[in-house]
Amino acid sequence: MNENRTEIGSLGEFGLIDHLTRNNETVQAGTLLSIGDDGAVIDHFGKQTVISTDMLVEGVHFDLMYTPLKHLGYKSVAVNVSDIAAMMATPTHITLSIGISNRFSVEALDEFYTGVYAACEQYNIDLVGGDTTSSSSGMIISITAIGEVTPDQFVTRSGARKHDLICVSGYLGGAYLGLQLLEREKRIFLENPSIQPDLQQRSHIVGRILKPEARTDIMEWLNEQGIKPTSMIDVSDGLSSELLHICRQSRCGCVIHEEKLPVHDESREVAMEFGVDPTMCALNGGEDYELLFTIPQADYDKITAHEGISVIGYITEEEEGAHLITRSNNKHALVAQGWNAFGDQKNAN
Ligand code: ADP
Ligand code: MG
Repeated sequence: MNENRTEIGSLGEFGLIDHLTRNNETVQAGTLLSIGDDGAVIDHFGKQTVISTDMLVEGVHFDLMYTPLKHLGYKSVAVNVSDIAAMMATPTHITLSIGISNRFSVEALDEFYTGVYAACEQYNIDLVGGDTTSSSSGMIISITAIGEVTPDQFVTRSGARKHDLICVSGYLGGAYLGLQLLEREKRIFLENPSIQPDLQQRSHIVGRILKPEARTDIMEWLNEQGIKPTSMIDVSDGLSSELLHICRQSRCGCVIHEEKLPVHDESREVAMEFGVDPTMCALNGGEDYELLFTIPQADYDKITAHEGISVIGYITEEEEGAHLITRSNNKHALVAQGWNAFGDQKNAN
């Protein structure tokens, strides 16, 4: 891949850390002490602190055969920032820990960190620490993200109330379809390495899986508009699964409408190509990293001013359960996971 390959061993652990963080600059006023000591020091100036950690494991969460390291670095940061945004908090800092084997060269890690720093710039956050260790079984990435919020203005999963509107940002199902496409191209490539995949026509879904964005823009817009969601979660495992989290933790039920689900045209096309239902992709496909939230009905007019937010349903009593109303007006219970065609499920009513 690279003409020059620098072995990690030639730098040593401390040399490697110095190398990877040599250009690390901080932009947050609250960053009092960054990389280089036993801990970082952050001043949150009277705000409350939100913390979230995520781990990504090679072979489980990513496949380096079709994931460029730069994209992986960016995505690792973005998915953590997404969790902070889903608390309606502003991300400010991350720490990043990596487990790596000598299969990786210094140049490969530079690629990874290029993506990390690009994401730090995009989200205006500081990398203030981490850990570096060897791993005998692939690459492991662990990121802790820190954010700040005006005291008691954070939003949990447990505040949804009957009649609240259910909203979701962006498009759903694209990341899942992008992954299916990359997996298919990988199989074709492994069988015949002379065939190069043409993914140009599929930039939306490939972008959704390889370079997801955290919707900090939605969080900021809601703040600007003075809309305080009653509950919020980011869509990492799929809409159904996340809605069921909100319902369980808010002790409520919900109804969503198939026709309201935001599915990109390219996703519909590819779903047809793969012979899967685009609605199932939207409900159960993960990794979209959109924000799913509930708002009081009174905020309906305000929310419709944003073209990138869809109102997909409303909150009901807990006893009513969680349902999807299909285009043909059938009612189906939402299930947490799996890939069940509607035909496999019991009709709810
Ligand atoms: P310690 O022995 O206290 O754990 P380390 O030698 O592991 O310290 O780390 C030295 C400094 O470099 C610390 O500030 C740590 O947070 C930071 N650091 C270590 N690994 C990474 C990494 N992969 N990315 C960014 N910062 C790192
Ligand atoms: Mg350490």
